[in-house]
Amino acid sequence: MDIGRYMELCLSHPEHGYYVTRDPFGVAGDFTTAPEISQLFGEMVGAWLADLWIKLGSPTEFLLVECGPGRGTLMADILRSTKNVPGFHEAARIYLMEMSPVLKDIQKQKLEAYDTRWIDDLSQLPPLLPVLLIANEFLDALPIRQLIKANDNFQERGVSLMGNDTFEVTEITAEATILETVPAKILKAADEGVFETSPVLNQYIKSVDILLKKQKGAALFVDYGHARSSLGETLQVVKSHQFADLFDTPGSCDITAHVDFENVANIALADDLAVHGPVTQGAFLRALGIEHRAERLWAVANEAQKESISTGLKRLIDTEQMGSLFKVLALCHDPLIRPEGFDEDL
Ligand code: SAH
Repeated sequence: MDIGRYMELCLSHPEHGYYVTRDPFGVAGDFTTAPEISQLFGEMVGAWLADLWIKLGSPTEFLLVECGPGRGTLMADILRSTKNVPGFHEAARIYLMEMSPVLKDIQKQKLEAYDTRWIDDLSQLPPLLPVLLIANEFLDALPIRQLIKANDNFQERGVSLMGNDTFEVTEITAEATILETVPAKILKAADEGVFETSPVLNQYIKSVDILLKKQKGAALFVDYGHARSSLGETLQVVKSHQFADLFDTPGSCDITAHVDFENVANIALADDLAVHGPVTQGAFLRALGIEHRAERLWAVANEAQKESISTGLKRLIDTEQMGSLFKVLALCHDPLIRPEGFDEDL
């Protein structure tokens, strides 16, 4: 099978898949994410959404959609921080796209004060209403495939089950449909190496584009990745905050890949959407006033809280931490709407 199928089975097999069987977050889990690190993250995304809702003309009904909401912490912080924005809560119809039954239960508890609905696919959203969609560390979880470029030729990396019940990496023929996803500059370049591509991600972005074109609105993607398409292997396997081998206990490790933001932007541009960014997470959060907000929280905090506000802020925006590896990209149906936070184009 190709690597993408292997990744998909490891993460989302209905019985044994990584996300299906556990809550992977936090110190006791395998990894942590921006909303789990600090409430400041969700507060900034909340402010961004409220501003954009006003720029859309404060529609009296809109779909507030999150894809891959994890523990529901980001949505809870967004809703808490926007409760004083007149009309925003009354207008928001909350939809979470989540495949994990374990995480769905946690989201239900965290968001029990709100009228929340769950979907498996964007096609299940009600038609007509405008959409504000967010996804933090969702795109990196979508299965990627790896093409190996050598001697002006592409092969695809595959996984084979060997006689002794172990897996091995193999090479399989790269079909025309997968080669079509490789950008011309990569096809033409003299360099050799691995190119990662994701038909699942491409399809998902297309479905977001169609939704935004049809119903109007905007989408915000935050993830680790690169601003430009390039050769390079980024597939990573993590267990208990440590890197692991791709074939270690399949289904019990997180497997992700860096997001190619140029590819996301190009799909959206081809679908006639306005694209903002990518900018670094640090630049985005600073532009939205995260430091100012941290100071305000700090002023009324006890010693332990002060420490956690400072370390949380640093982790989110410092260049050596999440500040520059993580990127932010927004899509909007209307080129005249200027979402906040995108002044520093990469
Ligand atoms: N946004 C959260 C969680 C990121 S982890 C945070 O920042 O903390 C990835 C999330 O995406 C998990 O909730 C996982 O269950 C979900 N997910 C992964 N692939 C999915 C898919 N194909 N459909 C729906 N949800 C998916």
